[in-house]
Amino acid sequence: MSNSNIIIPIYFSIAIITLSLPIDAATKDNAMSWNILSSILPLSVNASTVNETIGNQGTTSLNTNQDKLEVYTSFYPIYDFVNKIGKDIIDVSTIVPPGIEPHDFEPTPKQIIELQNSDVIFINGAGFEKWIERIQGVNTVDLSSSLSIEKTEAVPDPHIWLDPLMVKNISAVILDTLIKIDSHNAKYYENNYVKLSSNLDKLNSDIVGNLTDCKLDDFIAFHDSFSYFAKRYGLTQHSIEGLAPEADVDPQRVSDTINLAKQLGVNVIFTEESIDPRLSNTIANEINGKVLVLNPIEVISQQELESGEEYFSKMYENLENLKVALDCKG
Ligand SMILES: [Zn+2]
Repeated sequence: MSNSNIIIPIYFSIAIITLSLPIDAATKDNAMSWNILSSILPLSVNASTVNETIGNQGTTSLNTNQDKLEVYTSFYPIYDFVNKIGKDIIDVSTIVPPGIEPHDFEPTPKQIIELQNSDVIFINGAGFEKWIERIQGVNTVDLSSSLSIEKTEAVPDPHIWLDPLMVKNISAVILDTLIKIDSHNAKYYENNYVKLSSNLDKLNSDIVGNLTDCKLDDFIAFHDSFSYFAKRYGLTQHSIEGLAPEADVDPQRVSDTINLAKQLGVNVIFTEESIDPRLSNTIANEINGKVLVLNPIEVISQQELESGEEYFSKMYENLENLKVALDCKG
């Protein structure tokens, strides 16, 4: 089919999408969203009682043990890994609140003051938390510092948490840091780390095992977030958008994606849970394909936290959808 046959309906769809984009508005309205959220969400969530307390006001006052480490993490996956190692003997909070897209996030001045009182702040690094420069005099641990970070057009790719073996590496850094600050509980942290590490090994071998017999090696993610994952498992990632989800759609890139999908024989177009699926739907319609979710685990909703969703449940959902997209046996 020639391009001209498909361009007109696509441009029309794009116009609709662009006009009505505040959807994932997370990206553009962070400051406002946070101001609203900060009045209804706790700044600090006791790790042991996350299900009960998230969304309740003033949860910090429930902490009776004032000796607990005050640990801040920049955004969801880091929160989850730290939580899995420190569990109920530390107070762990996430700086980017549930439901907020972290790529363009900026903390409020009030949050920055709160952060100055923490024992340690864990960040992903690789340029993901540019706001960290505003926080001085606090023990800040950049979890990506020992990893080999790749760049796309000179911009570092921060999405290390989607490679389970890179997560093993950053979990070891989390463990070492907690032991340094709180050596008294070293054994407790080590036991939790061993469990996390073995779950990461299992996830890695499950991914390898499930993606060995597939017709395709190429997949089309929504934004460019699965490069490390793809490299680890011998796949080739393409994406509709760049290193961060964008508010404006690039019509040329959409048209190129449709042509690429046809060339590669790809018939699944991915979207993300926190993104309006209309753009992916538009592309899928043009190739008579379907839309599935490939979750970069950057945002988790309060509802998902309450229902016990976490890193591993999300990664196994991703694996199931990748098996469909890559047309794998078994
Ligand atoms: Zn991303």
